[in-house]
Amino acid sequence: MKSTYDLLVIGGGPGGAYAAKTAAEKGLSVLMVEKRPAPGAPVRCAEGVGKELLREFMKPDERWVAAEIERAHLIAPDGFSMELNPAKAGSEVGYVLNRKVFDRELVWQAAAAGSDIMVKTRACSPVMENGAVKGALLEYNGTVTEVKADLTIAADGVESKFARWCGINTTVPLREMETCAQYLMTGIDIDPHATEFFTGNEVAPGGYVWIFPKGEKTANVGIGIGGDRGGKPGIRPKDYLDRFVQKHFPDGKIIELIAGGVSICRPLECTVADGLMIVGDAARVSDPITGGGIYAALYTGKSAAEVGADAVAKGDVSKKNLMKYDQDWRASYLGKALDRNYQIKEVFVKLNDDDLNAIIHSVSKMDMTEFNTLSLVKNIITANPMVALKLGKAG
Ligand code: FAD
Repeated sequence: MKSTYDLLVIGGGPGGAYAAKTAAEKGLSVLMVEKRPAPGAPVRCAEGVGKELLREFMKPDERWVAAEIERAHLIAPDGFSMELNPAKAGSEVGYVLNRKVFDRELVWQAAAAGSDIMVKTRACSPVMENGAVKGALLEYNGTVTEVKADLTIAADGVESKFARWCGINTTVPLREMETCAQYLMTGIDIDPHATEFFTGNEVAPGGYVWIFPKGEKTANVGIGIGGDRGGKPGIRPKDYLDRFVQKHFPDGKIIELIAGGVSICRPLECTVADGLMIVGDAARVSDPITGGGIYAALYTGKSAAEVGADAVAKGDVSKKNLMKYDQDWRASYLGKALDRNYQIKEVFVKLNDDDLNAIIHSVSKMDMTEFNTLSLVKNIITANPMVALKLGKAG
């Protein structure tokens, strides 16, 4: 490790690793630090991602694709199951990844591109000069070292503190922080090519239970509930999940348990400051409806590195010059989807079980040829004008 770099990246998840790789390919000297001993572990993710979205960044590889998904089942609170099967119409759906391997692959690519990597190394404070970020204090093995950098990218995930230390408001309202628990289960009877989503107040208040297959009899079985709903014994995410598992997979074996949070709020008001860019979950760019953030982390990581490399080359890493990144991602497909899905989420969290039953029953009668949040929502609105009415009010 040197004491000065062009770029310091904090966090070795998809956002940080892709930023480090992109910047190193553009000729910057890069250091990426990750506080955990190994990237990708423990996995805090259901590991689902759209096929086409992923392909913007990576050629799928059987080493880290655990399952190919062809259809989805949406289960109403009354137990009615609706199938979404776009594969019948030739549309693609998604993958369930093996993120332990996927995240390592991304870090490996960053290293291969020339980036220095330090694991078990935690950024514990920014280095500030005249109000601008100029690197960070890094703690490794009990020793703190100062590393200076022209530009710093905060990619430190949902628990992000770095941007806050730099004076940026990163607060997520409690009701917009889904709390999650997930088991990796084996020995369970599932459709290995279908994802399942269970809705309803009894199953998952303010959220849903998911089953994401990772093989013939193995799946991530998880739950997210509204951050303001649980908290007490008996109504924590793991309590709901245990009840679900007991009912649906009483003989299944739990081989991993994870807990984590997903922000479903609006993105940060501004994702740049003097000498600083913020990407991925740290920028609050995960999808407000699904909680998915792998694609957004890759997208913002790449975009930040491209704009950042240009700024470093010009010797101007001021907020004004870095704003191009903030403007670009907001104007992109990602930014528009986040904006739209936030408004839709605000309506959906207010629906009761009767509304959900009515919606899922009515949409099941429609012919859906696409599988994405937008087409699902369009069909819901067509079949349920009262949702359109509520959306109009929310917008
Ligand atoms: P992360 O992957 O969180 O990486 C941030 C990294 O920064 C971490 O490795 C962390 O250790 C490190 N770090 C933090 N602080 C410091 C520090 N001070 N110094 C050094 N390193 C630091 N998304 C999907 O797309 N599909 C899904 O199916 C899905 N399911 C999910 C299920 C659950 C239960 C949860 C919790 C999340 C899920 N997500 C899903 C969200 C997805 O995991 C994240 O959006 C994605 O990992 C974001 O990538 P990132 O690089 O921004 O952050």
